[in-house]
Amino acid sequence: MRKSLIAVSIIAMVGAGIYLLQRPDKDLDMVEFLQAYININTAQPTPDYGSALTFLKRQATRDGFAIQEVPLPSGNKVLVVSQLGTDQALPALALNHHIDVVPIGNQADWKHDPFAGTIESGIIYGRGTQDMKGIGVAQYYALKAIKEAGITLKRTVHLLMVPDEEVGGFKGVNEFVKTEVFSRLNIGFVLDEGVASGADNTLLIKIGERKPIQIRLTSTGTEGHGSKIKCCNAAANLAMLLARIASFQEEQKVRANTIEAGQLLSMNITSLQAGVMRNGTVALNVVPNTATATVDIRVPPSITMQQAHAILDDMMHDFPSIHYEVLATISDPKGSVSVNSPLYHILAKTIEGQGLQAQSFYFEATTDTRYYLACGIQGFGLTPFTCKENLHGVDESITVDDLKLGQRIFYDVIRAFCT
Ligand SMILES: [Zn+2]
Repeated sequence: MRKSLIAVSIIAMVGAGIYLLQRPDKDLDMVEFLQAYININTAQPTPDYGSALTFLKRQATRDGFAIQEVPLPSGNKVLVVSQLGTDQALPALALNHHIDVVPIGNQADWKHDPFAGTIESGIIYGRGTQDMKGIGVAQYYALKAIKEAGITLKRTVHLLMVPDEEVGGFKGVNEFVKTEVFSRLNIGFVLDEGVASGADNTLLIKIGERKPIQIRLTSTGTEGHGSKIKCCNAAANLAMLLARIASFQEEQKVRANTIEAGQLLSMNITSLQAGVMRNGTVALNVVPNTATATVDIRVPPSITMQQAHAILDDMMHDFPSIHYEVLATISDPKGSVSVNSPLYHILAKTIEGQGLQAQSFYFEATTDTRYYLACGIQGFGLTPFTCKENLHGVDESITVDDLKLGQRIFYDVIRAFCT
């Protein structure tokens, strides 16, 4: 009884995905392909990259694409699917999508199983539909349609299928851009993720995003009795600096009512630690000799990293006993990306060709685009969906119509930019 129950529940849990995956000879249409991709659980922190890569490789091989699997120092892999152009000297166009997705949270909150790819009333539900398996599938089927139509490309197109974006990309694109294979791909332009517009008549083109500086502040003082008036209190000094940072952040919150968030410098305190432990508990009467905090700083495109560090140094000027170390950051983009770039014009024209308006924006968060920008590649972001933005939320979904719109847009962009 128990055995059969377990067997039934395992089949129920993995049902649709295994069913689709076990039919390698069936030519999946774009919607089925997205459903099967959603079936593969690539949620952090334990993404099943092996199954996802097998699934993607099998399809790309069947479709006759040249593929390369690029091992990274971390053990992760990037899959590159290419359609070669006739002019190898032209910098290639890369369409980037990350394979991993964020955790689902509480499954009971979801209307449908987040890994089932259920379709209801023309809407596909599932983790990754927007961020960003749906985009990756639209990119793939656009290039597949170009290939099947026998269109000769002048400029090479690479589809980059990458790991670990949702945990910072440190063991993903960060490592990938330093490989020999990456240099040989000769990429000049990247189209990566943006956000869904939430407006029937508009799509958003990302022309920049904020750069992270994640730091740890360490305050040093002298341990002493809590009754002392004259003491060098590491926790108190850190609290005074953090008050300055917090009030800066409050000012940005007000500014965010009139300026888009992607254009603001922000400083969020993300952790705070101090206190001396005695017998497994914090001693209430001991002044600690160290205190630490972490701060997540995001720098808009209009401020250079040097300027951002100068702002931080200025805030810290009155606190000589506090220093900071940078735990994660990125360099400024090399070269410029703007609404005047030729690729932006093509993206905007293509969107207008679908009867929609194109609107540029700066992204509040960061994506893999920052690694490409830091290498001097022109990077834009386009989530070609009009549905309401729901990147990491419950009931993440896109419409079947949006998926088809996405394919048409990528198809037209490749045709206009690469032939
Ligand atoms: Zn994403």
